[in-house]
This record gives sequence, structure tokens and C-alpha cells, in this order.
Amino acid sequence: MSVLEKITSKDAIALEEKHGAHNYHPLPVVLSRGEGVFVWDVEGKKYYDFLSAYSAVNQGHCHPTIVNAMIDQARKLSLTSRAFYNDMLGKYEKYVTETFHFDKLLPMNTGAEAVETALKICRKWAYEKKGIAENAAEIIVCENNFHGRTTTIISFSNDPVARKNFGPYTDGFIKIEYDNLMALEEALKTNENVSGFLVEPIQGEAGVYVPSEGYLKGAKALCEKYNVLFIADEVQTGIARTGRLLATCGNCSCVDKHCSGEPEVKPDILILGKALSGGAYPVSAVLANDAIMNVIRPGNHGSTFGGNPIAAAVGMAALGVVKEEKLAENAYVLGEIFRKELNEFIPTCDLVKSVRGKGLLNAILINDTEESSTAWDICMALKENGLLAKPTHGNIIRFAPPLVMTKAELLDCVSIIIRTLQTFKQ
Ligand SMILES: *Cc1c(COP(=O)(O)O)cnc(C)c1O
Repeated sequence: MSVLEKITSKDAIALEEKHGAHNYHPLPVVLSRGEGVFVWDVEGKKYYDFLSAYSAVNQGHCHPTIVNAMIDQARKLSLTSRAFYNDMLGKYEKYVTETFHFDKLLPMNTGAEAVETALKICRKWAYEKKGIAENAAEIIVCENNFHGRTTTIISFSNDPVARKNFGPYTDGFIKIEYDNLMALEEALKTNENVSGFLVEPIQGEAGVYVPSEGYLKGAKALCEKYNVLFIADEVQTGIARTGRLLATCGNCSCVDKHCSGEPEVKPDILILGKALSGGAYPVSAVLANDAIMNVIRPGNHGSTFGGNPIAAAVGMAALGVVKEEKLAENAYVLGEIFRKELNEFIPTCDLVKSVRGKGLLNAILINDTEESSTAWDICMALKENGLLAKPTHGNIIRFAPPLVMTKAELLDCVSIIIRTLQTFKQ
């Protein structure tokens, strides 16, 4: 079959079924075009995208500024490897570190690679700066975390589906309850070899768990007390998704380009991915100040594609769009409206227990067991009604549209969601 030949949804799904590994269970919709908050399937049906590729497409599908930056750079130079310098990487590093107020950036491609990088930096810092005995460093992580799919990362996951039969696992991790400062202090107090605390400011994959007010700030203070690095995985929560440039900005009133560099919580190591490229290209990064990042020296770590000129051009354009279009502010305002509208509806409906989230990273909790198919069935009905969302963990549906949405579009989506939920009788 020619790649240019038109394909039906049914045939496209059959091809993947036959020739592709079955490592995902997609909603049965085959998309061939996207623009802003919309995507179209191969039959021409239009949908609101309420997943945004797990918050990678915060800037909207095929944003012209980002696409043009990518095309222009692709015509000039795409890859040199880091064996040589290229004329884009330094500019990109300056732009991103100035945006987030860190001394240095280490470029990677995917989120999981950036998490791995942060773990390696933390361990090396533990031995060379904190003075921990060789091979003894430990890093605290949270239960129900999601940090990616590599062997080390799944070693400290507690999701049996992600973990089982992929052992032996990597040592050196201590798991504690999320959103529990006492558990963190206990772990810090009783393990003198702890060198880092890796945390998602909001647990996205676990079902959009927003920690208690003050948790992140308290965790950072404990890390300082015990000389442990606070490592924030903002791969999903970062880049304006939660109504601030970063979720660790907290309620800091400066958004977008007015960022003062004084967030509620300043991580020692910041991990970014997903929307760092607006979904156009795999771009991830680890940021830290010199005292930490300088433990990495030539040969310690790398990636053939990390820091390539296209990634650099795309990353700068994608961050530029976030600032220019005030996407953090928009996510904040629309998120408040979204939760208010759903909170007014929920008491009238037995099907939904609650809505939670921050900015435009939200989820509804379905009043059914984790094993039930209700959330999946609701997503299928939403698809019929022109809105694409996906369950996370059985009975939770995440709602995370591109941040370029207008208020009128958001209200249209709220009415699609409510209308769809009303067709489900309990
Ligand atoms: C998606 C995600 C990752 C992994 O990113 P990939 O690009 O899929 O490797 C890591 N951490 C968090 C919090 C994520 O949401």
C-alpha cells in the first residue's frame, strides 16, 4: 500500500493491530490532521482534543510559529551530534535558562531520558558533593508516581502493569506516600544516604492528584534541612499547563513573561519535556544551577539527538508562543471556569463523584470501580459527540485541552461533556 493512499479508520487500526506491538490500547479514532484545539479523523470528523498528547500540545496542534521554526531549521541543519558545536544550542540554552532562572541546561529528547539524567546528576552530586559512600546513594520517590518507562524508572513504580516481569530492578530508591510531609521527614531522618527527592508537583498519570496546599514548599524546606536535592518532574505539569509557567511557581502572581524568578518552590533540579516543544518534536531538558550541574563532565552523559539544532529552534519557538499568547494566564482563567461549571453539574448527577485539578490539568472521578468500563464507555460517547479524552486508571478521566482554547470553545466543551454524562443512567 502506498503511503499516499487514503486509508479508512478501520484499515488503519487493522494495520497497527497486525504490524505494531500492542503496547497501547488507543481509543478507536484515527487522526490525520490537527489545528489549534481541533483534530480531524481520516473520515473528516472534527473533534476537540481534550488530551493534548498528554499535555505535550499545550500550544495547540501545528502552531504556525513552531512549525515554521522547525521547517526553517530543518532546511539549514538538522543534526551534528555533540561531537561538534552547532549555532542553535547555545542560544536555546540561554533562552530556556533565563526563562526558568537556572544557570545551566542539559538537553535530552524524551521525558524519561530527562528523568534518568536528573537521577544520574543527583547520584553524582551525592558522591562528589555530599560525600556519600560509593554506590550507597538513595533517592526518595512517591507512591503512584509516573516518570516514564525505562528500566530504572519502572524499578520505582508501583504500577504492576508497568513493572511486572521487567526485573531485576534498579536499587537505590525509597518509596513514600505522596502528599505526606511526615513520611518524607521520617524517610530523610532514618536514611543518611538520601541524596534526592523526586516528585511530580501534581501526579498526572495517577489521576491528577493535586497535593495539599503547602506540600511542595514543605517538602523543599525538608530537603534543604537534610541537604537533599529537590527534583521536580514537571514534564506534564510544566509549560503553563496548570495556570502558571511551572506548577512549582505555586500562587506566585507573576505569570508568563513577567516571571520574577521567585516561585513558591524553586527545585534544585527541574525536569521538562512534552510541551517544551509544543508537541512538534521530542525535546526534553534538565535544568540546575552550577553547583549541581557542574558534576557532569565530558563523557559522563549524552545523547546523539539531544540538543540538536531542530530541537533548539523548536524549543525556543514553543516557549515563545507560551509567553506571547499568555497561555499560563489563559489556562488559569479557563481552568477556574471549567471546574466551576462541572462543580455545578456534579451534584445533579450520580455518575461523577468529583472534579479536581489546576489550570487546564483536570480530571473527573467516575462513581464506579476501577475495573468497570464506565470511564472508557464515557470516552467512547464523548468521541461520538466530538471530544477526545482518555481514562487514566480505570475510573478517572483526564481533561487537558490545548491551552490556546477560547472561553467560548471551553463552554462548548463543557456542554458536550455534561450532555454526554447525562446520557449515562446509573
Ligand atoms: C510523560 C511523562 C514522563 C515521560 O515522558 P516521555 O516523553 O513519555 O518519556 C515523565 N514524567 C512525567 C510526569 C510525565 O507525565
